[in-house]
Amino acid sequence: MDNTGRLHRFAQDLTADAAIVTSNLNRYYLSGFLGTAGTLFVTKEKVWYLADGRYFEAVQKKVPFATPLLVQGGDWGMLAELCREQGVQTLAFEDLTMTVSVFRKLEQALPGVTLVPLDNALLRQRALKDDYELSMIRRAQKITDEAYGQLITEIHAGMTERQVAHRLEELLFEGGATSLAFDTIAVGGPHSSLPHGRPSDYVLQDGDFLTLDFGAAYEGYCSDMTRTVAFGHATDEMRRVYRIVLEAQEQSIARIAPGVSCKEIDAFARSVMAKEGLDEFFVHSLGHSFGLEIHEQPGLSRTSEDRLSEGMVMTVEPGIYLPGRFGVRIEDDVFVTKTGCINLTASPKELLVL
Ligand code: ZN
Ligand code: ZN
Repeated sequence: MDNTGRLHRFAQDLTADAAIVTSNLNRYYLSGFLGTAGTLFVTKEKVWYLADGRYFEAVQKKVPFATPLLVQGGDWGMLAELCREQGVQTLAFEDLTMTVSVFRKLEQALPGVTLVPLDNALLRQRALKDDYELSMIRRAQKITDEAYGQLITEIHAGMTERQVAHRLEELLFEGGATSLAFDTIAVGGPHSSLPHGRPSDYVLQDGDFLTLDFGAAYEGYCSDMTRTVAFGHATDEMRRVYRIVLEAQEQSIARIAPGVSCKEIDAFARSVMAKEGLDEFFVHSLGHSFGLEIHEQPGLSRTSEDRLSEGMVMTVEPGIYLPGRFGVRIEDDVFVTKTGCINLTASPKELLVL
């Protein structure tokens, strides 16, 4: 079928007679071709790519394992024809992303065909990265590490959060990012207690922490990294909080391995902070999977029922946020191996005072 094995695995696990894949990211994941419209029609043996005139020629070239079908004025009739021709009685669809209005049109177009939700089947498959995907994530993370390495030689008190964020994004693109993984977070001084604050015109001062959370995307695959640096000097309290966040992070990473409960890793990080009386200031989850999207399943959270598996890529990002005063977060990306994990993030983590 395909040369990556992704489509093959998906088709083999199908419980319905066929599936349609309509969301851009999942279509890209399975076909290797990114377009803003189109439908993959997948049976256990074969795949068709329904594309309109904007993409038809590209699909013919770039998705050689699919039969291309040119859609003119809506693909409902063509889908109905394929279902009839292939004897499809049950058709799986992406219930997590399909709108109600499209679903209704689908129901009308396919009388007699039972529509079955795919639920999170594709998300579960996407959680386990293959070699190609891992190499793309590594590349994205390398760009991210290099941009950070250069940025810390340039930034200083007196710059605004927005100036720092802008320069960081420029460095990511100069380093080869094909897009940003997400909107850059650069929060300094009292703003650093806002875990997901947006960069403002706040002028960074001596004695401030600055938290940077950022990442490049490469060929659609993300990276995600956070570092907190100080300007001029750091008080004993700032150093203490920094040390506790770093300990929670490094000790959590050391526990990551296949079979480990996501919930327990999250609880472990909290227990490191609790010993120092600071766990109440850790106000988000410990980490998350990522890949084509910056937040994927599973999460390292209090409520997760998942366990880690070989092939997952996770962030580990504890933080302590003292409201109105300062915050610290440190985030690395790790790849779960047979026996433990490999840290994909190379940037140093000792407290940097610029
Ligand atoms: Zn992040
Ligand atoms: Zn993250």
